[in-house]
Amino acid sequence: MPEVKVDPEKCDGCGTCIDTCPVEVFELKDEKSVPAKQEECLACQACEVQCPAGAIEVTE
Ligand code: SF4
Ligand code: SF4
Repeated sequence: MPEVKVDPEKCDGCGTCIDTCPVEVFELKDEKSVPAKQEECLACQACEVQCPAGAIEVTE
């Protein structure tokens, strides 16, 4: 199963990953993105590519 990590030090809560992920892995909590449903992750890497802060890492 893929593992999705968000670095809270880098995340500024822009919401791009929430709009980008096709299976709604991310939720905003206290203005930080949290990979709340990472069991749904398809490892498409779209969030990693789109995050302007480089805060997301997806590993398979
Ligand atoms: S796209 Fe990056 S900076 Fe924006 S909310 Fe998601 S993890 Fe945070
Ligand atoms: S790799 Fe794709 S499916 Fe997985 S969290 Fe990122 S955008 Fe969503």
